[in-house]
Amino acid sequence: MITSEIIAVGSELLTPEKTDTNSLWLTEKLNEIGIEVMLKTIVGDDEPRLLETIKDALKRSDVVITTGGLGPTEDDLTRQVSAKAVGRELVFHKDLEDDMRERFRRMGREMPEINRRQAYIIEGADALPNANGSAPGLIFEENGKFLIVLPGPPRELKPMFTDLVLPRLKNLAGDFVVKRRIIGVSGMGESAIDELVAPIYTEYKDVRTSVLFNKTQVEIHLYLKAENGDDAEAVLEEMTARMAEALGIAVFTTNGETMEEVVGQMLLERGQTVSTAESCTGGLVGRRFTEVAGSSAYYMEGAITYSNEAKMRTLGVSADTLDAHGAVSSQTAEEMAAGIRERAGTNYGISTTGIAGPDGGSDEKPVGTVYIGYADANGTRSIRLNLPGDRYLVRWRASQAALDYLRRQMLKEGGRDKV
Ligand code: ATP
Ligand code: MG
Repeated sequence: MITSEIIAVGSELLTPEKTDTNSLWLTEKLNEIGIEVMLKTIVGDDEPRLLETIKDALKRSDVVITTGGLGPTEDDLTRQVSAKAVGRELVFHKDLEDDMRERFRRMGREMPEINRRQAYIIEGADALPNANGSAPGLIFEENGKFLIVLPGPPRELKPMFTDLVLPRLKNLAGDFVVKRRIIGVSGMGESAIDELVAPIYTEYKDVRTSVLFNKTQVEIHLYLKAENGDDAEAVLEEMTARMAEALGIAVFTTNGETMEEVVGQMLLERGQTVSTAESCTGGLVGRRFTEVAGSSAYYMEGAITYSNEAKMRTLGVSADTLDAHGAVSSQTAEEMAAGIRERAGTNYGISTTGIAGPDGGSDEKPVGTVYIGYADANGTRSIRLNLPGDRYLVRWRASQAALDYLRRQMLKEGGRDKV
């Protein structure tokens, strides 16, 4: 197995303000060609630590990738330090300097002399021209090991890696293909899901299966490295079908789509429309519907009705209902859904009302109590949920529950005999 590790360089990546996202992206790309990432390190702009890190990395991994610290200023150390780590000199490349000067000229500027530093490359390494910035990267190969030095800005690193590094690394791990699947499950807990699918996935020893919780849903990730793409596809297809069967209606996608894409697609196929009336989710359901391109074909209208007054004025919720049951109740949720459906003239109306916290809970209705309302031509329905998590999570989970409730009702409706 070919092993790799990633070193993200930059003191700003050690602060709470800046996250190392380059390594996430690189890991995905490396995994796709069968190279496993075994270690990731973040090092500040500190010469001794960076030197030690690169040297150690080269001892244990076949492919070492650094990102960042290639700029022209004093605190950009990666170029000099990586040369030191492999015991080579930096040599000046006139063509790289010419390219850089030309780049600056095209932007109507004179190249600052300080940028000449960026034209120095480890002796014996191949330079990687930078199509989107000044700092070139490099690939240095020695005794079957690779040291790959890339710039920090993602928009410079990504094309450089895809166009110039991937083709070099591609056949390192041998000839094979990688296939993956993501099964999305909603309305069921991680352990309940695992209990149902573990007997299935343990039968497939070659498939790497992980059950992950992701904000509002559980995802089952399948990953299979094989010599033959069609065979791999068939294995994953069979496995996916078995899991979907075991989990039933809780599975909303077997190929990584979002809930809003799935529900949108269902509405599109049926030529139906929806509108939303939101309280505790503050427009999140509407935002998620409209994040999907083409949603104007089925998403008509949304109201954020936070106060009782707005619920009455905009949706026609009755004062009696609010008095008798409160804003957070099944009755209010259903009147909200019916109200928006009627006013918008849509096939479906969906609503949310609940207590997102941290304050406002009571014994009877603690923080996380959320009602989802649903209305169609046949009437209204609702469900009560007790959602765990902080305000952020309660709101996201409520939005997911609203979309999922619509999906489930639509599936039921499809199977019901219409008179
Ligand atoms: P430059 O020539 O722009 O200085 P550089 O190669 O020296 O390029 P850095 O100075 O280390 O790169 O980083 C430049 C910017 O790129 C950072 O401010 C940050 O926004 C982004 N960046 C750097 N490293 C990462 C990383 N690991 N993940 C995500 N973004 C990063
Ligand atoms: Mg820099």
